[in-house]
Amino acid sequence: MQLSRGMKLVVASHNPGKVWEINQLIQPYGLDAVSAGELGLAEPEETETTFAGNAQLKAVAAAHGSGLPALADDSGLEVACLDGAPGIYSARWAGPGKDFGLAMHTVAGEITARNGWIEGGPRANFISVLCLAWPNGDVKIFEGKVFGHLVWPPRGGNGFGYDPMFVPDGETRTYGEMEPAEKYANSHRTRAFAAFKVAMLDHLTTEAVNTGPGRDLAALSAAAASLSTRAEAATFVDRLKADLVAHRGEWKAETLDTFLEALGWQLANLPANDEPAWRLLAKALLAASDHD
Ligand code: IMP
Repeated sequence: MQLSRGMKLVVASHNPGKVWEINQLIQPYGLDAVSAGELGLAEPEETETTFAGNAQLKAVAAAHGSGLPALADDSGLEVACLDGAPGIYSARWAGPGKDFGLAMHTVAGEITARNGWIEGGPRANFISVLCLAWPNGDVKIFEGKVFGHLVWPPRGGNGFGYDPMFVPDGETRTYGEMEPAEKYANSHRTRAFAAFKVAMLDHLTTEAVNTGPGRDLAALSAAAASLSTRAEAATFVDRLKADLVAHRGEWKAETLDTFLEALGWQLANLPANDEPAWRLLAKALLAASDHD
């Protein structure tokens, strides 16, 4: 089953922040998110034993309850020397008071009990699993992970949950010490959404490019501005090619030499901020195609 423009998608969460985040992602594709809370759907208990199982249970319940496609997520921290704990119990380790100081202490204590404070820190990963379910029972699962190690004591006041004790590979700072934009450029959640986007949303823009009356620069720039991974950058290049085939006369860079010259200029002059390199490349390619 496919998503199509104009569809409503239920976000199987009562958290308005999550619904807002998902709306940001899907609105450029002509879809609209409505929360399970707004529709008066009850939140099922997470009784499964895996992230995918819990995400599926929530998505299927919302799809059945609403008659619309529904998206649910489940996420957590997995510590290698604890055989993957806290895992699906990541939120529950914080207790009824949602005290993540306590949850981090518990993780650190369990690692100590297993002599897990090795050189370089105990290995761990965050994981986010998304499930898209249709009312007819079809489901699709998308997963994103970020690997790294843990530190003790926790460092930094940004983020939430276990962020202050997790250092992603290639970094020296914890998620708690990073700006939110730096964390989200490559987080497990971003990666799971990227997989969802590549599989379920990208064809919508390609369709729009092929059938639309002129260049849809707004849709192309929304796609460039929201991509983060190499796979998404590759899909974006395909889309740009479809746009060239459909609207060759409207490309301001008409020949390969003018396009390459414009691309070089864009790469040298685009503002260098904290954007992931793949997004910067996509923006430069698009800007070069529309450069006088
Ligand atoms: P969920 O809302 O059932 O998916 O529970 C996710 C739990 O996993 C959160 O309460 C956090 O404890 C933990 N978690 C998931 N993602 C992150 C993250 O990005 N940073 C820190 N903790 C996270």
